[in-house]
Amino acid sequence: MDDKTAEILPQRFTLENKFKFKCHKDVKCFTKCCRGINIMLTPYDIIRLKNRLDLPSDQFLSIYTDLQILEKTDIPVVTIKLMDDEEKSCPFVRDEGCIVYEDRPTTCRYYPLGVASLSHKEGADADDFFFFVNEPHCLGFEEDTDWTVKDWRIDQGVDIHDDVNAEWTDLVVRKRSFPSNVQFSDKSKQMFFLANYNIDKFREFVFESTFLQLHKIKPETIDAIKNDEIELLKFAASWFKWVMFKQGDFELNETEVEKRKKTEENLE
Ligand code: SF4
Ligand code: SF4
Repeated sequence: MDDKTAEILPQRFTLENKFKFKCHKDVKCFTKCCRGINIMLTPYDIIRLKNRLDLPSDQFLSIYTDLQILEKTDIPVVTIKLMDDEEKSCPFVRDEGCIVYEDRPTTCRYYPLGVASLSHKEGADADDFFFFVNEPHCLGFEEDTDWTVKDWRIDQGVDIHDDVNAEWTDLVVRKRSFPSNVQFSDKSKQMFFLANYNIDKFREFVFESTFLQLHKIKPETIDAIKNDEIELLKFAASWFKWVMFKQGDFELNETEVEKRKKTEENLE
């Protein structure tokens, strides 16, 4: 995952493509791939990591992440903030391995495969595909275990991540395919960040503002998003999609919207 050496190879892998690979503690390169890296975090990665570290999402984001703009788009994405040491290490790597291994991000699970939608690099385009992150220091390719891309995803638990992140990935890919003159406003970027990354603040926005008065949300949905962060995340991504693209089944409570407009007019 070293930016200087990693390249997207022209070959696009599908789920059925095969490769040989094994990573374990006895490889000479153990943890080398956790330094000098650029790891984009998905919304579900953030939920798992902030819960692992027992932090609210805004604190996790400010301590452990950097804000970047996805190449070819103006979409805000967050990446792991690297340490200030010589090797630019991931803050979660130790000599004995990853201290958040069970909750490691999607990109770390896919490695040595990459996914176009999670890549900043040229060559990653609108449609999704897999590629090899071919780095000279990675000796896992010298091992003799066979995988298909499909089996690797299941083994690494990445299929669950992809399922939870589906709406977000769709938005990222959709924005990439927009003409370059279509830009998100600053307000849209803030909403995108809130809905996709800052889940605890999004919860406050839903339950502690007029959101539930202004939208017609089914009681069973309210129950689900109150008690389940993954449901809340999926709800957030769908809501953002509805606000931006008018797609989905959200509905405004027109009576409340009118009331609010009148109150605002009276205050002017
Ligand atoms: S999160 Fe874990 S696996 Fe991923 S780069 Fe950091 S230390 Fe390595
Ligand atoms: S084999 Fe590759 S993935 Fe495993 S520790 Fe070495 S560099 Fe990282």
